[in-house]
Amino acid sequence: MAICKTDAFVIRKFDFRETSIIVEFFSHDFGRIKGILKGIRGDAKKFGSRLDIFSLNHIVFYQSRGSEIHLVSQCDLIDGFFNIRQDLAKINLASFLMEMISVVMALEDKNEDVFKLILSCLRDLADTHDAHKILNIAQIKLLRLSGFKPHFDSCVLCDSEIEGYANFSTAFGGLLCPKCAYRDMNKHDILKGTVASIRHIEKSDWQDIRRLSLSSPVRMELKSMLDKFVTFHLEKRLKTVRFL
Ligand SMILES: [Zn+2]
Repeated sequence: MAICKTDAFVIRKFDFRETSIIVEFFSHDFGRIKGILKGIRGDAKKFGSRLDIFSLNHIVFYQSRGSEIHLVSQCDLIDGFFNIRQDLAKINLASFLMEMISVVMALEDKNEDVFKLILSCLRDLADTHDAHKILNIAQIKLLRLSGFKPHFDSCVLCDSEIEGYANFSTAFGGLLCPKCAYRDMNKHDILKGTVASIRHIEKSDWQDIRRLSLSSPVRMELKSMLDKFVTFHLEKRLKTVRFL
Protein backbone atom coordinates (compact mmCIF):
# COMPACT_ATOMS: atom_id res chain seq x y z
CA MET A 1 0.00 0.00 0.00
CA ALA A 2 1.42 3.34 -1.04
CA ILE A 3 1.32 6.27 1.37
CA CYS A 4 -0.16 9.41 -0.19
CA LYS A 5 -0.48 13.00 0.99
CA THR A 6 -2.74 15.67 -0.39
CA ASP A 7 -4.99 18.61 0.44
CA ALA A 8 -8.67 17.78 0.24
CA PHE A 9 -12.15 19.22 0.76
CA VAL A 10 -14.71 17.14 2.65
CA ILE A 11 -17.64 16.71 0.27
CA ARG A 12 -19.69 14.00 2.06
CA LYS A 13 -19.37 11.87 5.15
CA PHE A 14 -21.29 9.21 7.01
CA ASP A 15 -20.88 7.11 10.14
CA PHE A 16 -19.51 3.62 9.72
CA ARG A 17 -19.72 0.86 12.33
CA GLU A 18 -19.31 1.92 15.97
CA THR A 19 -16.61 4.58 15.87
CA SER A 20 -15.48 5.20 12.29
CA ILE A 21 -16.57 7.53 9.52
CA ILE A 22 -16.31 7.20 5.76
CA VAL A 23 -15.51 10.48 4.07
CA GLU A 24 -15.67 11.47 0.46
CA PHE A 25 -13.02 14.07 -0.36
CA PHE A 26 -12.22 16.16 -3.38
CA SER A 27 -8.45 16.23 -3.33
CA HIS A 28 -5.84 18.30 -5.13
CA ASP A 29 -3.81 15.33 -6.36
CA PHE A 30 -6.29 12.47 -6.78
CA GLY A 31 -9.65 14.10 -7.52
CA ARG A 32 -12.65 12.61 -5.74
CA ILE A 33 -11.59 9.89 -3.30
CA LYS A 34 -13.15 7.95 -0.46
CA GLY A 35 -11.44 7.28 2.84
CA ILE A 36 -12.18 5.68 6.17
CA LEU A 37 -11.13 7.32 9.44
CA LYS A 38 -11.10 4.63 12.07
CA GLY A 39 -11.91 5.38 15.69
CA ILE A 40 -12.61 9.09 15.17
CA ARG A 41 -16.02 8.97 16.86
CA GLY A 42 -14.53 7.23 19.90
CA ASP A 43 -11.65 9.68 20.22
CA ALA A 44 -12.29 13.10 18.68
CA LYS A 45 -8.68 14.17 19.29
CA LYS A 46 -7.25 11.34 17.24
CA PHE A 47 -7.33 13.58 14.15
CA GLY A 48 -6.55 17.29 13.82
CA SER A 49 -9.86 18.07 12.15
CA ARG A 50 -13.57 17.50 12.74
CA LEU A 51 -14.01 16.74 9.06
CA ASP A 52 -16.83 19.25 8.66
CA ILE A 53 -18.45 19.39 5.24
CA PHE A 54 -16.57 21.78 2.87
CA SER A 55 -13.59 22.14 5.23
CA LEU A 56 -10.15 21.95 3.62
CA ASN A 57 -7.74 19.48 5.21
CA HIS A 58 -4.30 18.03 4.73
CA ILE A 59 -4.65 14.26 4.67
CA VAL A 60 -2.33 11.27 4.68
CA PHE A 61 -3.77 7.97 3.49
CA TYR A 62 -2.78 4.44 2.52
CA GLN A 63 -3.84 3.80 -1.03
CA SER A 64 -5.81 0.58 -1.18
CA ARG A 65 -5.44 -1.54 -4.31
CA GLY A 66 -8.47 -3.76 -3.86
CA SER A 67 -11.04 -1.26 -2.59
CA GLU A 68 -12.12 2.24 -3.50
CA ILE A 69 -12.04 3.17 0.21
CA HIS A 70 -8.58 4.13 1.44
CA LEU A 71 -7.37 4.20 5.04
CA VAL A 72 -6.83 7.79 6.23
CA SER A 73 -4.16 7.89 8.93
CA GLN A 74 -3.82 11.67 9.41
CA CYS A 75 -6.08 14.61 8.84
CA ASP A 76 -5.30 18.20 9.81
CA LEU A 77 -7.53 21.19 9.25
CA ILE A 78 -6.21 23.86 6.85
CA ASP A 79 -9.32 26.05 6.54
CA GLY A 80 -12.75 25.52 8.08
CA PHE A 81 -14.28 28.54 6.25
CA PHE A 82 -15.74 29.78 9.52
CA ASN A 83 -17.19 32.94 7.95
CA ILE A 84 -19.47 30.76 5.84
CA ARG A 85 -20.53 28.76 8.90
CA GLN A 86 -21.99 31.86 10.56
CA ASP A 87 -24.68 32.11 7.88
CA LEU A 88 -27.15 29.26 7.44
CA ALA A 89 -28.00 30.18 3.83
CA LYS A 90 -24.31 30.15 2.90
CA ILE A 91 -23.79 26.82 4.66
CA ASN A 92 -26.58 25.34 2.55
CA LEU A 93 -25.14 26.73 -0.68
CA ALA A 94 -21.63 25.50 0.06
CA SER A 95 -23.02 22.08 1.06
CA PHE A 96 -25.04 21.94 -2.14
CA LEU A 97 -21.89 22.55 -4.19
CA MET A 98 -20.18 19.66 -2.37
CA GLU A 99 -23.13 17.38 -3.13
CA MET A 100 -22.96 18.37 -6.76
CA ILE A 101 -19.24 17.57 -6.93
CA SER A 102 -19.99 14.15 -5.54
CA VAL A 103 -22.52 13.62 -8.35
CA VAL A 104 -20.69 15.02 -11.36
CA MET A 105 -17.03 14.18 -10.74
CA ALA A 106 -15.74 10.69 -11.51
CA LEU A 107 -13.90 8.83 -8.77
CA GLU A 108 -10.09 9.15 -8.66
CA ASP A 109 -9.80 11.44 -11.63
CA LYS A 110 -7.41 14.30 -10.83
CA ASN A 111 -8.72 17.72 -11.77
CA GLU A 112 -6.80 20.70 -10.43
CA ASP A 113 -9.15 23.18 -12.07
CA VAL A 114 -12.05 21.81 -10.05
CA PHE A 115 -9.98 21.99 -6.87
CA LYS A 116 -9.14 25.65 -7.59
CA LEU A 117 -12.77 26.35 -8.42
CA ILE A 118 -13.94 25.03 -5.04
CA LEU A 119 -11.33 27.14 -3.26
CA SER A 120 -12.28 30.34 -5.14
CA CYS A 121 -15.97 29.71 -4.62
CA LEU A 122 -15.68 29.10 -0.86
CA ARG A 123 -13.42 32.13 -0.38
CA ASP A 124 -15.89 34.35 -2.22
CA LEU A 125 -18.92 32.86 -0.48
CA ALA A 126 -17.38 33.88 2.82
CA ASP A 127 -17.30 37.58 1.80
CA THR A 128 -20.14 38.06 -0.63
CA HIS A 129 -23.59 39.58 -0.19
CA ASP A 130 -24.76 37.71 -3.28
CA ALA A 131 -24.13 34.09 -2.37
CA HIS A 132 -26.62 32.65 -4.88
CA LYS A 133 -24.82 34.27 -7.78
CA ILE A 134 -21.46 32.93 -6.62
CA LEU A 135 -22.95 29.45 -6.32
CA ASN A 136 -24.59 29.55 -9.76
CA ILE A 137 -21.35 30.68 -11.39
CA ALA A 138 -19.47 27.89 -9.63
CA GLN A 139 -22.08 25.34 -10.75
CA ILE A 140 -21.80 26.37 -14.39
CA LYS A 141 -18.00 26.25 -14.22
CA LEU A 142 -18.13 22.89 -12.47
CA LEU A 143 -20.41 21.35 -15.09
CA ARG A 144 -18.09 22.60 -17.81
CA LEU A 145 -15.07 21.00 -16.09
CA SER A 146 -16.86 17.77 -15.20
CA GLY A 147 -17.69 14.82 -17.37
CA PHE A 148 -21.16 16.28 -17.98
CA LYS A 149 -20.13 19.27 -20.11
CA PRO A 150 -23.64 20.50 -20.96
CA HIS A 151 -23.81 21.64 -24.56
CA PHE A 152 -24.70 25.31 -25.02
CA ASP A 153 -22.98 26.12 -28.33
CA SER A 154 -25.47 24.52 -30.71
CA CYS A 155 -28.21 21.87 -30.73
CA VAL A 156 -26.97 18.93 -28.66
CA LEU A 157 -28.58 16.42 -31.06
CA CYS A 158 -28.08 17.78 -34.61
CA ASP A 159 -25.42 20.46 -33.97
CA SER A 160 -27.36 23.10 -35.89
CA GLU A 161 -26.88 26.68 -34.79
CA ILE A 162 -29.48 28.05 -32.43
CA GLU A 163 -30.92 31.46 -33.05
CA GLY A 164 -33.27 33.05 -30.62
CA TYR A 165 -35.73 30.66 -29.04
CA ALA A 166 -34.28 27.49 -27.53
CA ASN A 167 -35.10 24.64 -25.20
CA PHE A 168 -32.91 23.01 -22.62
CA SER A 169 -32.95 19.25 -22.22
CA THR A 170 -31.73 17.95 -18.88
CA ALA A 171 -31.72 14.37 -20.14
CA PHE A 172 -29.64 15.08 -23.27
CA GLY A 173 -27.55 17.65 -21.42
CA GLY A 174 -27.84 20.66 -23.69
CA LEU A 175 -29.87 22.94 -25.92
CA LEU A 176 -32.34 21.61 -28.46
CA CYS A 177 -33.19 23.40 -31.71
CA PRO A 178 -36.91 23.76 -32.64
CA LYS A 179 -36.66 20.72 -34.97
CA CYS A 180 -35.24 18.40 -32.30
CA ALA A 181 -37.31 19.76 -29.42
CA TYR A 182 -39.92 16.96 -29.71
CA ARG A 183 -37.29 14.37 -28.69
CA ASP A 184 -37.53 15.35 -25.01
CA MET A 185 -40.98 15.73 -23.49
CA ASN A 186 -39.47 17.27 -20.35
CA LYS A 187 -37.49 19.99 -22.10
CA HIS A 188 -38.07 23.54 -20.98
CA ASP A 189 -37.74 26.99 -22.53
CA ILE A 190 -34.60 28.93 -21.89
CA LEU A 191 -34.09 32.68 -22.31
CA LYS A 192 -31.54 34.00 -24.77
CA GLY A 193 -30.01 36.01 -21.93
CA THR A 194 -29.51 32.85 -19.88
CA VAL A 195 -27.70 31.07 -22.71
CA ALA A 196 -25.52 34.16 -23.27
CA SER A 197 -24.68 34.36 -19.54
CA ILE A 198 -23.77 30.67 -19.40
CA ARG A 199 -21.48 30.97 -22.43
CA HIS A 200 -19.84 34.03 -20.91
CA ILE A 201 -19.31 32.30 -17.55
CA GLU A 202 -17.89 29.19 -19.22
CA LYS A 203 -15.29 31.19 -21.14
CA SER A 204 -14.19 33.71 -18.51
CA ASP A 205 -11.82 33.54 -15.54
CA TRP A 206 -13.25 33.42 -12.04
CA GLN A 207 -11.87 36.87 -11.17
CA ASP A 208 -13.67 38.47 -14.14
CA ILE A 209 -17.05 36.83 -13.69
CA ARG A 210 -17.50 37.52 -9.98
CA ARG A 211 -18.50 41.06 -10.98
CA LEU A 212 -20.96 39.87 -13.63
CA SER A 213 -24.45 41.23 -13.13
CA LEU A 214 -27.37 38.93 -13.85
CA SER A 215 -30.94 40.13 -14.38
CA SER A 216 -33.49 38.54 -12.09
CA PRO A 217 -35.25 36.46 -14.83
CA VAL A 218 -31.85 35.04 -15.88
CA ARG A 219 -30.95 34.41 -12.27
CA MET A 220 -34.21 32.56 -11.60
CA GLU A 221 -33.87 30.51 -14.75
CA LEU A 222 -30.27 29.57 -14.01
CA LYS A 223 -31.20 28.44 -10.54
CA SER A 224 -34.12 26.31 -11.68
CA MET A 225 -32.18 24.81 -14.60
CA LEU A 226 -29.19 23.89 -12.43
CA ASP A 227 -31.42 22.45 -9.69
CA LYS A 228 -33.23 20.26 -12.23
CA PHE A 229 -29.99 19.14 -13.85
CA VAL A 230 -28.37 18.10 -10.57
CA THR A 231 -31.54 16.44 -9.22
CA PHE A 232 -32.03 14.47 -12.45
CA HIS A 233 -28.48 13.14 -12.47
CA LEU A 234 -28.44 12.52 -8.72
CA GLU A 235 -31.62 10.43 -8.97
CA LYS A 236 -30.21 8.56 -11.95
CA ARG A 237 -27.06 7.75 -10.00
CA LEU A 238 -29.00 6.66 -6.92
CA LYS A 239 -31.11 4.33 -9.08
CA THR A 240 -27.96 2.78 -10.58
CA VAL A 241 -26.52 2.24 -7.11
CA ARG A 242 -29.76 0.55 -5.96
CA PHE A 243 -29.64 -1.96 -8.82
CA LEU A 244 -26.07 -3.04 -8.13
ZN1 LIG B 1 -31.40 19.96 -33.47
